[in-house]
Amino acid sequence: MKISTLYNKPNQSRTIFAIEAFPPKKDAPVERIYAALGEIAALKPDYISVTCGAGGSDAGGNAPTIAVSSLIKNTYGIETMAHLTCVSSSKAQVLTTLEALREHNIENVLALRGDINPDIVRKKDFQYASNLTAFINEFSDIETAGACYPEGHSEAQSINADLHNLKRKIDAGCKTLITQVFFDNALFYSFLDKARLIGIDVPIAAGIIAVTSKSQIERMVSMCGASLPAKFVKMIAKYESRPEALRDAGIAYATEQIVDLISSGVDGIHFYAMNSPYVARKIHENIKALL
Ligand code: FAD
Repeated sequence: MKISTLYNKPNQSRTIFAIEAFPPKKDAPVERIYAALGEIAALKPDYISVTCGAGGSDAGGNAPTIAVSSLIKNTYGIETMAHLTCVSSSKAQVLTTLEALREHNIENVLALRGDINPDIVRKKDFQYASNLTAFINEFSDIETAGACYPEGHSEAQSINADLHNLKRKIDAGCKTLITQVFFDNALFYSFLDKARLIGIDVPIAAGIIAVTSKSQIERMVSMCGASLPAKFVKMIAKYESRPEALRDAGIAYATEQIVDLISSGVDGIHFYAMNSPYVARKIHENIKALL
């Protein structure tokens, strides 16, 4: 099923709830991750998206993403969305990946540029995610989603410039959007207003994570630059040396964000579960009646 049809069902009034998972990293025990995914799938989210390495289609880098997406769709019977980066992919490689996805009955792709990284050789076929989006829509019937950034993408000159670039993704055929993580809902609402004003009219799922350790938040802030509200910083400072307390506080904080978002009529929640069945289950328990 195409993800946009989940949002566009007649009389749709509920919030779409999706979970993001990642495939096993090189040398990581596959069994543990597969067991975790089984537990996450048992929560029956509307769909599960599966990340990919920044290398994208290069050198078979998408194989783990396709394998996990296939497991989710064909074994667990949950709709799936495979992430696909293009920064180091040729058109031929993307076509091969699309064919493999189709063979596994996968109908949705999150079309991404990927981060620019000195360790990854860039190819010239796709400069931006919008180029990949247009290419997929021209050569396949797989539906494309895109990434967006409530605080603006780190390379963009301004939030407005980033929003106008985002509009190019929609014009290229992107049917739904998923936001980068944020910890301050006011930033999301402001982004949403601006996006709607310039004609970005597709469903936008809010990206939420439950922070469960101090190192996790440090890594994330350095990677995605999400700003941290004072009450969030206070929470980390208070519980950083008590892992269980920090985990519970992180889950409570994310729950509060989600309750506010659903009450405000958000299209969807995209929960970054970090492959933790415990955290996914706790969040799901807290909000399932709201969905
Ligand atoms: P783009 O949309 O191409 O934007 C990149 C930059 O280019 C932005 O600053 C934008 O404003 C600018 N831009 C776009 N078009 C133009 C134009 N025509 N002219 C000038 N400037 C332009 N990374 C992974 O490696 N694997 C993953 O699985 C993964 N999953 C993600 C999931 C989500 C929900 C999000 C939000 C991000 C994810 N990322 C992932 C990270 C993503 O690859 C990076 O944030 C990357 O730097 C940008 O990707 P993009 O698709 O948003 O790029």
